[in-house]
Amino acid sequence: MSDDGLVELVLRSTRVITPEGMRAASVAVSGGKITAVLAHDAEVPAGARLEDFGDDVLLPGLVDTHVHVNDPGRTEWEGFWTATRAAAAGGITTLVDMPLNSLPPTTTVDHLRTKKDVARSKAHIDVGFWGGALPDNVKDLRPLHDAGVFGFKAFLSPSGVDEFPELDQDQLAQSLAEIAGFGGLLIVHAEDPHHLAAAPQKSGRKYADFLASRPRDAENTAIGNLIAQAARLDARVHVLHLSSSDALPLIAAAKREGVRVTAETCPHYLTLTAEEVPDGASEFKCCPPIREAANQDLLWQALADGTIDCVVTDHSPSTADLKTDDFATAWGGISGLQLSLSAVWTEARRRGHGLEDVVRWMSSSTAELVGLDDRKGAIAAGRDADFAVLAPDETFTVDPAALQHRNRVTAYAGRTLYGVVRSTWLRGERVLSEGEFTDPAGQLLSRRR
Ligand SMILES: [Zn+2]
Repeated sequence: MSDDGLVELVLRSTRVITPEGMRAASVAVSGGKITAVLAHDAEVPAGARLEDFGDDVLLPGLVDTHVHVNDPGRTEWEGFWTATRAAAAGGITTLVDMPLNSLPPTTTVDHLRTKKDVARSKAHIDVGFWGGALPDNVKDLRPLHDAGVFGFKAFLSPSGVDEFPELDQDQLAQSLAEIAGFGGLLIVHAEDPHHLAAAPQKSGRKYADFLASRPRDAENTAIGNLIAQAARLDARVHVLHLSSSDALPLIAAAKREGVRVTAETCPHYLTLTAEEVPDGASEFKCCPPIREAANQDLLWQALADGTIDCVVTDHSPSTADLKTDDFATAWGGISGLQLSLSAVWTEARRRGHGLEDVVRWMSSSTAELVGLDDRKGAIAAGRDADFAVLAPDETFTVDPAALQHRNRVTAYAGRTLYGVVRSTWLRGERVLSEGEFTDPAGQLLSRRR
């Protein structure tokens, strides 16, 4: 590290993704930060090291704001060591950990401290934390906010784990009023429990039965209610893992009217379809569910027109034994951390989008969502020197054995994807190159004050 501002490292490529678009450039790095984006043929300062990536693309490290690390407590599902390695292998340099599925859940300042103690020595990339909003922890929300969580997650229907109960409409109003009071952000798993309860519940191996049990109306209604509450309280809310395209007009209208709502979707909704899920293949199960191809087309349109702001993994693994062939009882969650960039890029490319779009959805917008856009999400002077180097035209076939996830269960097995991550850099240091990791150097991040 240099404290005197001398350039230590220059990263060069004919294709650097900057906020102004893709161009040939040389990126100067000092003290872990980007100091300048220079001409491609800029002279390398004396004493600086040059890394020339040729035509491979240099892009800002991805910021994945929706990851279930499950550590401590369900570390056999995933842990900070394995999750951050998988993330780095996929070009992700920052993740924000969800408050549930670990034990304890991140619902008090004490629990946050426990999480941080566990994560500190294992993080290969930077890690931040969401807090949780439960029916009985309204008093804990402000202290958690002051302790640096990036916002609060709530469920409106059962979460899948007993220790993280959902909020009813009154409890949602109460938590949201409290969070709005200190200018915080509420992020919501939006499926309405009454619509879920009214849907046909059939167990078994057929994906169509599972899909029918999680109807679009459940999402649409919950999102409508959430927007109404946000408008009433002038609160900031974020719709997690949007799957139902029927809810897009609601979100678009709310944005036009100035309601402070943003939305995300996930690689699996954008690249996999209900029509292709084999019987009993619960590696494709998540909630809300992967829907039909026509639904997917509308999600892509909404990304293009800005109704959906960002793409995050919702990486939510379990041990393989919980992924039974009965869709009703199998664990609901898809592992996507290591493959998200390649999966999204493969489909984006086919649909005529550029890598600049993918970077906007998976790095700039997510950094902005959590207020890290002064440090992350762009190749620009002053930001952390976090990068992925991608060979976008090269393909690979997904082999579960090559995944760094603790449990190598994947819905993408056997697929051929575009985009090979050659190396990943955190604050100017290689995290991963050609399958080799350096010692964990990730920092624990807090919300900017
Ligand atoms: Zn999730």
